[in-house]
Amino acid sequence: MSRDEFAHNLFHNRTGVLATMHRKEQAIRPVLAQIGMQIVVPEALNTDEFGTFTREVERTGDQLQAARLKAEKAMALTGLDLGLASEGSFGHHSSIPFLACDRELVVLIDRQQDLEIVGQVISTDTNYSQQQVTTLESAIAFAQKVGFPSHGVVAMPEAHPLPGSPIFKGITDESQLVDAVTELLRQFGQAHLETDMRAMHNPTRMKVIAQATQDLVTKMSQCCPQCGYPGFTAVERQAGLPCALCQFPTALPLAVTHRCQKCDFSSVSYFPNGQEFADPAQCSYCNP
Ligand SMILES: [Zn+2]
Ligand SMILES: [Zn+2]
Repeated sequence: MSRDEFAHNLFHNRTGVLATMHRKEQAIRPVLAQIGMQIVVPEALNTDEFGTFTREVERTGDQLQAARLKAEKAMALTGLDLGLASEGSFGHHSSIPFLACDRELVVLIDRQQDLEIVGQVISTDTNYSQQQVTTLESAIAFAQKVGFPSHGVVAMPEAHPLPGSPIFKGITDESQLVDAVTELLRQFGQAHLETDMRAMHNPTRMKVIAQATQDLVTKMSQCCPQCGYPGFTAVERQAGLPCALCQFPTALPLAVTHRCQKCDFSSVSYFPNGQEFADPAQCSYCNP
């Protein structure tokens, strides 16, 4: 049996539980079906207790910890030994100011094999956006800009509302929008609008979750050269790829370390992007 077949067989015909109450199975299930894994969704799971996008609950820990907690909760509820969860974070791109981006990760925890594998994607394909308005017309203009009504919006009095403030979530039709904004304008003289980033109200985000799941499947097929277990993934990147013009080290990766979780074997490979020198445009000396 080849390494690929071995990795494939570890997950084939197994059932994993996906921790979601936002219909993320629509994005994740078809991707995992390609490798023969079935997905169930527990009914009695409240993922909101781990943090919400809409302010009521602050997220506990970082993005990966939050995903792990959800997957573990779903496994505990169902008794299954394979758990999955996804977690998104939205903000501005680290190197391109004012460009919104969506970082999605999907974690797979396999108790049978004692493995954890994380798929991830950072995409600028997102409608993530917010705006303060004082008229109904500007509220409708914002909604149109962010893909409403196929994409939902959320309305509240201000960006950081006081506890107990009205928060209108999952607005997906115009009369709901008009009612919510009219009420906020009447009570507060303004409304803070933002895109609803919960997966079931955001088809653009759903696509990025599918891409992160595809990355997970790719990593599930990357096997350790020593023991053959899947999840032989990059754990460390070393910057310093030299500039093609002046040889000064740049911020681009020079080397990447892959490590096996099972046997701890690791290997360092140089020039992970297949190029031995960086474009001088990326050099802080040639292009300050
Ligand atoms: Zn290994
Ligand atoms: Zn240079």
